[in-house]
Amino acid sequence: MSYAKPLPSYLVQRYHGWKATTHSENRAWYKRLANEGQRPRAMVISCCDSRVHVTSIFGADQGEFFIHRNIANLVPAYAPDGDHHGTSAAIEYAVTALKVAHIIVLGHSNCGGIQGCLDMCTGNAPELEKSSSFVGRWMDILRPGYERVSQENDAASLPTALEKEAVVVSLENLMSFPFIEEAVTSGELTLHGLWTEIGEGTLECLDSNTREFSPL
Ligand SMILES: [Zn+2]
Repeated sequence: MSYAKPLPSYLVQRYHGWKATTHSENRAWYKRLANEGQRPRAMVISCCDSRVHVTSIFGADQGEFFIHRNIANLVPAYAPDGDHHGTSAAIEYAVTALKVAHIIVLGHSNCGGIQGCLDMCTGNAPELEKSSSFVGRWMDILRPGYERVSQENDAASLPTALEKEAVVVSLENLMSFPFIEEAVTSGELTLHGLWTEIGEGTLECLDSNTREFSPL
């Protein structure tokens, strides 16, 4: 079966536009990036959601951020069990090989993954409870977080509270990786939790002592 087809023409056109302008005007910069390798200062873990535009928010160039995206910007706990762990692999490479100075976990408003977790935990999404649901089993990471925030929030505030809890849980799970705990303790690495409101463009930063987020 032939499954790999030519790219849609709108993407081909956009690519040629980029090559003729952005790339050709900065040819030396791209050559240098290619020859010298990457030295990103920060790793960003964000949601796959197409509205979360990390490089745009921070005005970042190529080479500045090592970015990993997954459903609901979650980090699983350290689990060296020989299984396939894409997020943990990205984290290991960023910290032990690239030696990034910062890891930023960026949550966001109106997150479909978080809504799915809420639906699952409230019994409204039986399809997510199936062992064959990759999304459901991934969102299991946040079940303990749901138990915590569901007791302190009403239906209206719960989605935002769980989006922020996902950031807190991810930072706690990051600290369960021995090489991260070591790098944080020695001061070589700092962790940061952020949450962005897509419509307003606001960005809030987590204080891990109070578990509160405040606007930047
Ligand atoms: Zn999301």
